[in-house]
Amino acid sequence: MNAEIIAVGSELLTPFRMDTNSLYLTEQLNQLGVEVVFKSVVGDDLRNLVAAAQHALFRSEVVIFSGGLGPTEDDLTREAVAEALGVSLRRDAEMLTHIEQRFAARGWKMSPNNAKQADVLEGATALANANGTAPGQWISGKFDGRERILILLPGPPHELKALFEAECRERLRAKLPPAFIATRVLKVAMLGESHVDARVAPIYKSFADVQTTILAGAGEIQLHFKSRAQTGEAAQARVDAAADAVEEELDDAVFSRNGESLEQILGYWLQMRNTTVAVAESCTGGLLGERITSVSGSSRYFKGGAIVYSNELKTELAGVPADMIERHGAVSREVAAALAEGIRYRCEATLGVGVTGVAGPTGGTPEKPVGLVFHALASDSGTEVIERKFPGDRKRIRLFASTMAMDMVRKKLM
Ligand code: AMP
Ligand code: MG
Repeated sequence: MNAEIIAVGSELLTPFRMDTNSLYLTEQLNQLGVEVVFKSVVGDDLRNLVAAAQHALFRSEVVIFSGGLGPTEDDLTREAVAEALGVSLRRDAEMLTHIEQRFAARGWKMSPNNAKQADVLEGATALANANGTAPGQWISGKFDGRERILILLPGPPHELKALFEAECRERLRAKLPPAFIATRVLKVAMLGESHVDARVAPIYKSFADVQTTILAGAGEIQLHFKSRAQTGEAAQARVDAAADAVEEELDDAVFSRNGESLEQILGYWLQMRNTTVAVAESCTGGLLGERITSVSGSSRYFKGGAIVYSNELKTELAGVPADMIERHGAVSREVAAALAEGIRYRCEATLGVGVTGVAGPTGGTPEKPVGLVFHALASDSGTEVIERKFPGDRKRIRLFASTMAMDMVRKKLM
């Protein structure tokens, strides 16, 4: 079954407010086996809302409106949907009492414009809103000869969520043929998007009943797999088959098999191997430590480290010989290695990580351009250094560098 979501509100067409309700609703609908095929944002304008409702009712089996159910002049969803359906609005006595009671409970007098929130579409069921005044509405039946389910929900996210969960989820489930959607997310570190796609497209395309989407970020690519079937097990088996085939091709570049973050996976491996890590960060300025410690329980494996931005502190806190910095420069293979070894020693960690590079946008030279980063990992078996030239702005380069460093540690432990 296919669904469409219409988020109502002129504020959602400004740069200051984003439609997040549709993301929540999409997740909920997917869990019920319903696919969202259209969504739109419509401002508080009666004509546009009527047109949006008509389009949606023509092409989608489930139509959910979010917002525009408040008491003010610009809340027009009820009126627009009534016009699109060709039905009238009736004032629901029970809902009116509910609204009056909410005001009375706060010791306030209800102003007359609030009464219109109790206006319900002819033929609709009013859904009591435990967290606000505007009730939701549910109407199902044939419109222009097509079987449709239409749901109106209030805009404030906490009201919408509570109402959907209390009043809509089971009502929808009862109307739907059994269908289940299963998803899997694989995450890949430090490979380019086009490179990954060239390798795996022939594989995922051979799974016609699995929808595959690739999302790229700095140093991380996500492969999302989705499949629909009549049982949860059947849907899961299909996404697993596709994900496993892709994983086999990409091998150890896949760091996450079920959507876990690199930070979580790194923590998992460090604990598995009973290992500790310490970091000496120059160009990442603490980002690496911040990311590693974003995981609860990281004190079990993260010793700490130092942000050694100046040359003096590289020497003082991480033991990098001053003449080494003089000879090779702070951004060099040698200094990265010395940072990793020095911090490992100072912090008495099993592994030491050193990162030094040019984050830009200033400070680049022909020999040491913006984006050049050295990542080093020191252990009792020696020190490994990886040199990379990352694209993008300062933020992206630092993100790349921290991801690279974490991925080095992960690969070492695997
Ligand atoms: P309304 O039901 O249109 O009166 O919306 C009330 C408030 O809920 C708005 O001022 C927004 O801050 C919030 N809101 C409405 N629609 C959405 C949406 N689609 N996503 C997130 N917040 C919303
Ligand atoms: Mg509004």
